Amino acid sequence: MSLTEGPFYTPDSPEKTDFRDDGSGDAVTLTGRVVDTRCQPVAGAVVDLWHADDLGRYDNSGYRYRGHVRTGTDGSYRFETIRPGYYGSRTRHYHVKIAAPRRRVLTTQLYLPGEPRNDSDWLFREALLVSLDRAHRVLVASFEFVVPVG
Ligand code: FE
Repeated sequence: MSLTEGPFYTPDSPEKTDFRDDGSGDAVTLTGRVVDTRCQPVAGAVVDLWHADDLGRYDNSGYRYRGHVRTGTDGSYRFETIRPGYYGSRTRHYHVKIAAPRRRVLTTQLYLPGEPRNDSDWLFREALLVSLDRAHRVLVASFEFVVPVG
């Protein structure tokens, strides 16, 4: 499902999947696949990710915690990043745009399960919760994006 991009999107993010040097915070691997409504993997989709730092601040002049990657032939994507902080009325969230070939851009947000602020954030959607796993010291957040058949 789609959700507002909010006020802090910056176009033309760099091709970049490792945000760990952009600042400190709890390590999160954000990974999954882009599939179409027939569950077929979508290759070559641009997954553009941006989010706040661990104190809830966006970099609006540069590209800290901003980057994109292209899905592989299996539709997969993967980012090494952190758990974003919350700000204002917002719970922790990631912003994402999925631009798949010949399809309309999907703009949405992702949420983390078990966050105390989820219930009071009016933009929170249960359908946009990632699955969380822990691998060693890194949280692994998984989400499958579904785009229309092209
Ligand atoms: Fe935001």
